[in-house]
Amino acid sequence: MKLYNTLTHKIEEFVPMQQGKVGMYSCGPTVYSHPHIGNFRSFLVADLLKRFFEFKGFQVTHIMNITDVGHLVDDADEGADKLEEAAKKQKKDPMEIAQFYTDSFMQASKLLNIKPANKYPKATEHINEMIEIIKKLIDKGYAYVVDNNVYYNVEKFADYGKLSGNTLEELNAGARIEVNQEKTNPQDFALWKHDPKHLQQWDSPWGKGFPGWHIECSAMSSKYLGAEFDIHTGGEDNIFPHHECEIAQSEAASGKKFVHYWLHTRFLMFDGEKMSKSKGNLYTIQELVEKGFRKNAIRYSLISSHYRQNYNFTFDGLKAAQQAIDKIQQCVLRLEDLRKNAKAGEIRPELKDLSSNCLKDFDESLSDDLNISKALGVCFDFIREANKAENMNSTEAAALLDTINKIDSVLGVLEAGESEVPVNIIELAEKRKAAKLAKDWKTADAMRAQITSLGWTVEDTPGGGYRLKRAGEAG
Ligand code: AMP
Ligand code: ZN
Repeated sequence: MKLYNTLTHKIEEFVPMQQGKVGMYSCGPTVYSHPHIGNFRSFLVADLLKRFFEFKGFQVTHIMNITDVGHLVDDADEGADKLEEAAKKQKKDPMEIAQFYTDSFMQASKLLNIKPANKYPKATEHINEMIEIIKKLIDKGYAYVVDNNVYYNVEKFADYGKLSGNTLEELNAGARIEVNQEKTNPQDFALWKHDPKHLQQWDSPWGKGFPGWHIECSAMSSKYLGAEFDIHTGGEDNIFPHHECEIAQSEAASGKKFVHYWLHTRFLMFDGEKMSKSKGNLYTIQELVEKGFRKNAIRYSLISSHYRQNYNFTFDGLKAAQQAIDKIQQCVLRLEDLRKNAKAGEIRPELKDLSSNCLKDFDESLSDDLNISKALGVCFDFIREANKAENMNSTEAAALLDTINKIDSVLGVLEAGESEVPVNIIELAEKRKAAKLAKDWKTADAMRAQITSLGWTVEDTPGGGYRLKRAGEAG
């Protein structure tokens, strides 16, 4: 299994710290507004990676934090706290804001069939752990206190810049003139901040205050995965300053290598710009579902391009995703029907090979730094061949279905229950679709009527596809 490591700028063979196990930490949402599909592109890359490790037999421990304090508007040390700003605007308590948007994040994660992390630790519930690391950094001479604030002295950490490729000289040259006079170096960053006006305050050895953003991920990752672990993920904007600072804090405090593989997802773009909460050019998962797009199509479209390339979000892409899933689903429905109704028998060698080659090629594709386009190509080649196979017995159908299910344990796009639609209903729906395409409305209506009389409803989806539900079934 090979992965591109931002730290070394190379595609490397993945060697876990413990055989058969993977420890993975992902920077989660800052819960001051609804997460958008750009955020979810990053979260889905982590999900894809985790599912693929599980496909390969690894046991994954996955931690994703919830940032509910300390993330300032400009990502570094300046500006208002994002949570606090939202709380003031909405005239609510910051914790109420955090809970509301954490719920929104969880709901959208579920819609996208993201496998839950083992734990979603919240920054505000780990203040003591952060204080302990800050104390250690002060003791070891990496951090200093000025007027109840604690700063990290980046000059003390010789490796500062090793992840992002930034050097202190370049950073200092580009620093703003009006940098905080309390800092020894312009690039020093806050570990603990004193601000009597801040709504969220905790006691600390340096007086009342609140933590900087970066320290939370050092504290929570080491608490749940140990001071040294396998993989850390995030979006490309996390590389600097957030992850650079995490390395400086964690490695200085523990004396160990913090993370072995750093994986960063390139931005999801919209109209040529990064999709972001601050720009407001965003869509949430819930909004797209309300527009009538299927949640599995949203998932498919967000995972279907390589994580190290920007993905330009379009509605056409979403429609194409729906059509792609429909293709897989049609194949599944036929196989389900054969599995239930055909006679049992031996599996023909060519069908055995079809399955085993597909799984091997799928594995090889994703093992190549998560080459998803190649993996999807393998999947659709398999579907095409499976559709061509004639006179299939039930054992063969079951074997091919098993292959699709294994692939879908990684892709996560097939909706449970849909495969239960009887094949005669599908046939009617397909005839209706063809009639609609030919503008033969009379036949289309007749097909709909037949579907309804058999206890099913057919709904059109924006991509020109359809969705079948048992009459009276919700969702
Ligand atoms: P935030 O809620 O701002 O803390 O962001 C949560 C995660 O989403 C971080 O890992 C970001 O790097 C990532 N992210 C933010 N915007 C995008 C985007 N447009 N495309 C991909 N990832 C993003
Ligand atoms: Zn983080």
